[in-house]
Order: sequence, then structure tokens, then C-alpha cells
Amino acid sequence: MSVLDLARPEIRTLQPYSSARMEAGGGQIMLNANESAWEPAGDAGSGCNRYPDPQPAPLLQALAKLYGVQREQLCVGRGSDEAIDLLVRAFCRAGQDAIVIQPPTFGMYAVSARIQNAAVIEVPLAQDFALDCDALLATITSAVKLVFLCTPNNPSGKSIGRDDIERVAQALAGKALLVVDEAYIEFSEQPSAIELIGRYEHVAVLRTLSKAWALAGARIGTLIAHPDVIGLIRRIMPPYPLPTPCVAAALAALSPSGQLAAREHIAVVREQRAFMRNALSAVLGVREVLPSDANFLAVRFDDAGAVYQRLQQAGIVVRDVRRYPNLQDALRITIGTPEENAKVLAVLNEMTADKVQA
Ligand SMILES: *Cc1c(COP(=O)(O)O)cnc(C)c1O
Repeated sequence: MSVLDLARPEIRTLQPYSSARMEAGGGQIMLNANESAWEPAGDAGSGCNRYPDPQPAPLLQALAKLYGVQREQLCVGRGSDEAIDLLVRAFCRAGQDAIVIQPPTFGMYAVSARIQNAAVIEVPLAQDFALDCDALLATITSAVKLVFLCTPNNPSGKSIGRDDIERVAQALAGKALLVVDEAYIEFSEQPSAIELIGRYEHVAVLRTLSKAWALAGARIGTLIAHPDVIGLIRRIMPPYPLPTPCVAAALAALSPSGQLAAREHIAVVREQRAFMRNALSAVLGVREVLPSDANFLAVRFDDAGAVYQRLQQAGIVVRDVRRYPNLQDALRITIGTPEENAKVLAVLNEMTADKVQA
């Protein structure tokens, strides 16, 4: 059996839209796509009067090199969010199929599934946010088409061990696609699951330039998978997913000087993460700072609501994660610059001082 047997039959046979850009060979005078012949005002040289290459070769090449895969094993879209959506649409029949997630986790898996009217099977993480492999594997039926694993997990920050990922991969062979979301892996010391793709045709990995690569605004996410899966997803991708300025920004970020800057910032985040975990643990009213392999910390407070408000009043916005299971007393705080992090500590310590006085 092929991994494509898991996909929706009507997607497998779909005749994809063929754009003018895809059909065109090279030429000097391009009169095939109803574009403007003139460059946009104030943006000369950008090339934005022309439709972009659907999958620009230089970007694919740079990302293939970065992730250590062949070009046929990846496709690039508008953030991992788009890849999540396309995977659900390609594999889950509305009203029949299901995905499996492990709350508390990233919200987009369930949102994309619900938009597609696919069921969402929840296998809660353990008290310490570890993956419950046995419970997960017990939920696998023929309706389950996608299993998402988020590592390091958002919002807990915990990674899934390599052995567990491989165990799930083995168990899902011929049954479902395993999607490993590695949005934060650059901040961790864990090995990537990309290496599994060569051995398991039903394993896919999501990577993004939004976090460690400082390009959240450019919306560049990469799906890495077996070439058959990539081919399937390319069929249902919008014709021009990558805006020209975003491709330029991505290529700049992936240049040697861009890579140097990213590595430096990742090192600062790791160092500040350790510093903040220590410092926050010493603040009165902090119950626990969860260990994190990502660029944020989930922090439990005696009164998370009051802390949220106090930070807000000081102009600091953090993420209220109290609606997530097992995090009812927690806020998620992204690691900022050392100055920004110091400000967070200053506000929290001020709060403590007020309390002690009162
Ligand atoms: C931020 C985040 C993403 C989204 O990434 P984009 O590439 O910006 O769409 C994906 N997965 C997780 C777990 C995230 O936290």
C-alpha cells in the first residue's frame, strides 16, 4: 500500500488548477497572465507586477539544504498553518475521518479539522505534559487519518523523546499519517524527526521560519514529507502561495549573514530562558515555571489573572493559557530581549513588594 491510499480519493484524482505562470516557458515579453506591464509606484525593481513563481527554486534549494532533504521532499506555503490546513483537507473526509491531538497543544490542528468537519480525538498529555503513547495508539481506528505530535509542545514547552516518536511512527504504518510539528525545535537540543521521513513514507514534518528565523510576518512554512505526499499537497495549494517580497525576505534570512544572526538570537533566547526560569521561580506568587525547550515559558501563578492584568497595565502582553487543560493557573511568556525580560521581572517584583506592604 502507498501512503496516498490514506488520502481522500477525490483529491487524488483532482485535476489541479494550471496557472499561466506554471504553463509558461521563458520569454522576454510576457503577455500570458493579464499582469500589468508597469511596475508598481514606489516599488520599482520588486517584480511585484508579475505573479510569483509558485515554488521558487532558490528558496526551495535553500530550505532543502537547511533541513537536509531533497527538493522533492518539501513544499513551501503560508506558514505551517497553511500546511496543517492542507493536510487535513487532503486526508480527512468530511463527516467521516478524524485527527488525533494531545491537549494542551497548538490550537490550529483542531480548528483546521473542525473547518473540514473532521472529528478531533483528544489524548490528553500526562500531568507532567509527557506523551501517553499507549493511550494515543489505543485511539487509532480506520477513521484516524492524521496524528499530530507537537515537539517542543506549545504551550507546555516539553519535547517528545525520539523513541516515542519512532514508536508512534511504527505503529501508524499503513494506517495514518504522522505529522510532527517542529515549530520550536531550533531552540531545543532534540534531534529532528526529519530523519524518519526517509524510512517511513507516512511521516511528515512541519518547520517554519516564523519563530527562530524571525519571519513571522513573511508567513513561510515548510512541509517535509515523502515526494508523493508533497505532490498531493501541491495539487490543492493555491496557485501563488508565496508573495514576492516574502520570498526575498526568506532568502535574506537564509543567507550566510542571516544564518549567523539567527544562530546568535537562538543562543540569546536559550540563555535568557534559563535565566528567566530561575528568576521567575524566585518570585513570590509563582508556583512553578515549567521546563521549556522552546522560546517561551509556561508559568503557574497563585493569581494568574492579576499578574496578566498587572503586566498589561505596564504595557507587557503575555498569553493567557488558563483555558487549556492542566494550565488553569498559567500564563505563557515569550522570551524577549534581555531588556524586555528584565521589565517583566521588575513588574512582577513590584507586585510582590505591594503585597508585602499591604
Ligand atoms: C507558531 C506555531 C506554528 C505556526 O507557524 P506558522 O509557520 O507561523 O504558521 C505552528 N505550530 C506551532 C506549534 C506553533 O506554535
